[in-house]
Amino acid sequence: MHIFHLKLSHSRSFILLLLLLGLLFLSLIWQDVQESLDTMSPALFGQVILIDAGHGGYDPGVLGVDGSREADINLAIAKKLEEYCLQGGMTVLMSRNQDAAMASSKSEDMKSRVRLAESADIFISLHCNSYLGSSEQRGAQVFYQRGNEAGKLLAEGVQLRFRQELANTERAALAHPDSYLLKNIEAPAVIAEMGFLSNREEAELLQNEAYQWKIAWAIYQALNDFFSMEELPVEELPTAAPVQTEEDQSPQ
Ligand SMILES: [Zn+2]
Repeated sequence: MHIFHLKLSHSRSFILLLLLLGLLFLSLIWQDVQESLDTMSPALFGQVILIDAGHGGYDPGVLGVDGSREADINLAIAKKLEEYCLQGGMTVLMSRNQDAAMASSKSEDMKSRVRLAESADIFISLHCNSYLGSSEQRGAQVFYQRGNEAGKLLAEGVQLRFRQELANTERAALAHPDSYLLKNIEAPAVIAEMGFLSNREEAELLQNEAYQWKIAWAIYQALNDFFSMEELPVEELPTAAPVQTEEDQSPQ
């Protein structure tokens, strides 16, 4: 009797173990399903995006206070955004997948980016800012081309998502004073300055994997907003003074 009882409790714990393993397996699968459900979007399906990781190769972009290179950070975030966009059913064009420029001169490089944008429904250029005048300056700033109304809507949407997801800025999207890229691209186009490499804390964040995923997610959400709605629900924002940028977007 005693032996039988032992056997029974053994088989019971075996069944219990199997049940627990089964539950664990199901919850793991569910997580995967949930993740792809989160990123899949009918609004984005089939849309062609050009993700432009700013600079590259001989042009490192701005240098961070800690020696970080803007071109590397732009590319790391571009690849993360690419992943979200592909999962969302978009067709993704990348101006670069490695640390290389698109042409041997800066002006040809810019022209190549514009030419590639002609095949895209939407264009987003990723950059990091620098302002040596004040290491306190921080936060994301999104630019559009005056006259490109869809671009303005997209810029406001990206800025809003940055404010919500990154909580690093109270800025509003701005018309770019002089961007060769934005002036020459007809599709809705924005330049996202994702943060300041001249600010030590932000430079560290911009190199942090988890923070990079957050930035990519914020942009992806804004893309989804843009293609899902007739008009983005942009709240009334205080007009911020333009931030001087040390970027030079025009071909030399
Ligand atoms: Zn840049």
